[in-house]
Amino acid sequence: MTRYIFITGGVVSSLGKGLLSASLGALLQARGYSVRLRKLDPYLNVDPGTMSPYQHGEVYVTDDGAETDLDLGHYERFTGVSSRQSDNITSGRIYQKIISKERRGDYLGGTVQVIPHVTDAIKEFALAEQDGIDFMLCEIGGTAGDIEAAPFMEAIRQLSIDLGKGRSIFVHLTLVPYLAAAGELKTKPTQHSVRDLRSIGIQPDILVCRSEHPIPDSERRKMSLYCNVSETAVIPALDSSSIYSVPVSYHKEGLDVEVLKAFGLAHSQAPNLSRWEDIMDRIENPEGEVTIAVVGKYTGLRDAYKSLNEAIVHGGIANKVKVNVEWIESEVFEKEDAIAQLDSVNAILVPGGFGKRGTEGKIAAARFARERNIPYFGICLGMQMATVEAARHMAGYNDAGSTEFEAHNNPVVGLITEWVREDGSVEKRTSETDLGGTMRLGAYDAVLKEGSKVAEIYGKTQISERHRHRYEVNVGYVEKLEKAGVLFSGMSPDGKLPEIIELPDHPWFIGVQFHPELKSKPFEPHPLFASFVEAAVAQSRLV
Ligand code: GLN
Repeated sequence: MTRYIFITGGVVSSLGKGLLSASLGALLQARGYSVRLRKLDPYLNVDPGTMSPYQHGEVYVTDDGAETDLDLGHYERFTGVSSRQSDNITSGRIYQKIISKERRGDYLGGTVQVIPHVTDAIKEFALAEQDGIDFMLCEIGGTAGDIEAAPFMEAIRQLSIDLGKGRSIFVHLTLVPYLAAAGELKTKPTQHSVRDLRSIGIQPDILVCRSEHPIPDSERRKMSLYCNVSETAVIPALDSSSIYSVPVSYHKEGLDVEVLKAFGLAHSQAPNLSRWEDIMDRIENPEGEVTIAVVGKYTGLRDAYKSLNEAIVHGGIANKVKVNVEWIESEVFEKEDAIAQLDSVNAILVPGGFGKRGTEGKIAAARFARERNIPYFGICLGMQMATVEAARHMAGYNDAGSTEFEAHNNPVVGLITEWVREDGSVEKRTSETDLGGTMRLGAYDAVLKEGSKVAEIYGKTQISERHRHRYEVNVGYVEKLEKAGVLFSGMSPDGKLPEIIELPDHPWFIGVQFHPELKSKPFEPHPLFASFVEAAVAQSRLV
């Protein structure tokens, strides 16, 4: 029997609902339960794939090729459970489905309405593919009271009735602000937010209260009284130095016990939190420090590189070092002499990206790393630009470039129009195809060259990694570049798509067409990130 936990937010956005959901998932796992997490997003985009990272942060890609909300990345990093397309729904996707059914005439002349058609579709999504797991955690995007979230709130209210007594609970995350002038914590916004929920028939079972100050018993009592929640179920959530200490903090505040109590389940045994205690110990007691420059395009918004940032932290956890990241807009390297500022870093990473702006700066960063023997990690666009750099300056194709930006005499990176999926089916595209959902997306296998650096790092020669790109390094240049000293150490199984390049004569220079950061976890750091940070540590000892 699958039990449902609905997680809503109130007062303001950005309180850490995703982190709360992911941490609760991890705590339930630490008690031996199986979990799955889902995100219900009220916005009208079909998926976040076409949104700028500045709008909604990074687009997280699943093995089955879904472009999803970045909270799904938190879910995977905290629980290790791989997300699927069926774990993220948006209003846009629901309306798209309903409207195409309506156009086909499937509603047999009926009027199509938010209740029941939209709410039924939301419920169907929440109930699909339960796979016999113990707990399904459903996080509702947005804030209680939002107009666009209303059908979702109504759907989870109905669902709690449909599921029957004891099968679901509501957890509500709110803000308890501190008014410095009054020297007081204020519970009124929480009271109002809960009143909003109760007015639509949702009574939270547990209140989680974000606060910058400890919440005194008197205020807890007040919220319990006014929000109709037992006092022990008012859980304080204070700021913490690392997101990976959040599961243990929530446990100390009694969150997992309250959840089990609300379901009438036994809770006397303590959960096994050793995995999280070990991670915290490694973060809090580093044995050294390194600095890595991330040369990108959306460096003003940290959420745009969420998984990347976390994977770098995981590389630090693996090596027991603190990693300082310098986020640098690649455009700055298009000015003469600016590149010298990279002299002081221990490693350079050029992440994925789209569009021409700043790409010459990325090429300059790759060249600097190659010539100065500084560890270089190129991811997706970062690999493509390193390949263009090698073509220009190692193989002598001065006019090499990517057709993503303009036509080139030497299109070392080009639009891919056909490729084979893992199940053997062939995907085809043209330059006219829609932009939404049409990239090479999701998990694809790659075969690594025996004896290469990447084969040594992975400890195997068959890998599967997640992709999200439209362009590829042109296989027609492989031989020419190999002659110039670039090793194509990873290829698609049919040998047509270059997946990895490396420079055998360099301490650590690797470019990958895929996004390894999406699969890294604090308790299982991705081997490429662990090795890259290790190379940065080695570099730091040289200077
Ligand atoms: N813009 C490049 C492409 O579409 C790289 C994409 C990426 O870095 N994710 O191929």
